[in-house]
Amino acid sequence: MAGEPQKDCLFCKIVEGHVPATIVRQTDTTVAFRDINPQAPVHILIIPKVHYDNAAALAAGAPEIAADVLREAQAVADDEKLESYRTVFNTGPGAGQTVFHAHAHILGGRGLQWPPG
Ligand code: 5GP
Ligand code: ZN
Repeated sequence: MAGEPQKDCLFCKIVEGHVPATIVRQTDTTVAFRDINPQAPVHILIIPKVHYDNAAALAAGAPEIAADVLREAQAVADDEKLESYRTVFNTGPGAGQTVFHAHAHILGGRGLQWPPG
């Protein structure tokens, strides 16, 4: 069911503490941790504690938590002293989504090209 923990979901396991992660921030509804394969000097993932397959499903099913994720993006950027940063939600394998638990990538600490690849 939407919002329920998924048995085989890596990010649900991080929320539950069953898989270790370098957690940088937590709220009642979100967890932020460093990406294991960083694509920039700062690369942090922000996830809702509840399971939704992607950002749009989260926004449809729990809009207040989708807003929490976006608020946390700025909080992470402030903690990391990022003046500029990019927030990315990959949706679908063709866009590079590999973990099907909604997450925002926060990328910063270097120049970021636009348009992205
Ligand atoms: P996606 O490709 O789905 O947009 O993003 C998934 C991200 O999760 C990737 O950037 C990948 O490096 C990261 N990732 C995959 N496995 C782990 C893990 O076990 N720990 C952490 N911290 N990040 C992970
Ligand atoms: Zn999950």
